[in-house]
Amino acid sequence: MQISVVIPLYNEEESLPELTAWIERVMDANDFTYEIIFVNDGSTDRSQEVIRKLAAGNPRIHAISFARNYGKSPALNEGFKKAQGDVVITMDADLQDSPDEIPELYRMITQDGYDLVSGWKQKRYDPLSKTIPTKLFNATARRVSGIKNLHDFNCGLKAYRRDVIKHIEVYGDMHRYIPYLAKNAGYKRIGEKVVHHQARKYGTTKFGLDRFVNGYLDLATLWFQSKFGVKPMHLFGLLGSLMFIIGFIAVLVVLILKVVSISSPSYHFYVTTSVYFYLALAAMIMGLQFFLTGFVGELITRNSPERNNYLIAEEF
Ligand code: UDP
Ligand code: MG
Repeated sequence: MQISVVIPLYNEEESLPELTAWIERVMDANDFTYEIIFVNDGSTDRSQEVIRKLAAGNPRIHAISFARNYGKSPALNEGFKKAQGDVVITMDADLQDSPDEIPELYRMITQDGYDLVSGWKQKRYDPLSKTIPTKLFNATARRVSGIKNLHDFNCGLKAYRRDVIKHIEVYGDMHRYIPYLAKNAGYKRIGEKVVHHQARKYGTTKFGLDRFVNGYLDLATLWFQSKFGVKPMHLFGLLGSLMFIIGFIAVLVVLILKVVSISSPSYHFYVTTSVYFYLALAAMIMGLQFFLTGFVGELITRNSPERNNYLIAEEF
């Protein structure tokens, strides 16, 4: 099978028939062998009924239906597990992404040799409250991830070589950073394609402004994992050592001042009113905590199934 289209959806009953017909049209026009996998993320509207009806008319339509709303990332993750096509294409269900992009995305993966191609909604039809923070978000993501050529990390329309999606795990809200996840997993050929974007026709957006706060926190997590994921002591040990050095210097200062004050009749030094005394205390306690965090981190890493996961490019 050439293509799997994975579509996460949450309360999108109005869009589904139109979207499905459009995908079928594009697939038939290009003679692709394909499957469509709807992942119904606990919709409370009639989405599931609509999907059942659509599937009755086309055996290539499959569905996974969550018992409750878990989020877009879990939906993608389950869809990826089920996908069998050589190229896996993800797409939002709200008709903002155009199925007409599928043939070119497929070609970029199979012929240009990309592992992942991300859509770029160069001209967006979203409110300003969303497009401006998004620019900032993407600039930060580019810097932190080191993937310099992507303008639009969070575009729902993306294409992958099957291998890629079988080697990454999308959880929490990490769907915003799939290119970064792929890069960390060892897939470096990440490309971009300008795609058409449309205003939402039916229903409403499922993400509020909290997406930006959560987005930054997730980016911090991913950065930490990619840098220190299997060697947490390298970060915490460094911070702990720095604290100990600061604390040690502060203790020395306290000692010297005390000795000076004992031997001099005019100079009075009281340890408990000195800033250095408090600095020494705070630094020592923080240093110890950094070290303990590092040790606990190392113990956790030792038990993690991820600790020895490498993507091997070639082996003789
Ligand atoms: N979605 C989902 N689970 C959720 C939230 C959203 O499966 O908890 C789906 C949603 O139905 C849509 C896609 O993820 O197909 C993108 O969501 P939306 O269009 O609301 O995001 P936006 O385009 O506003 O960024
Ligand atoms: Mg949308």
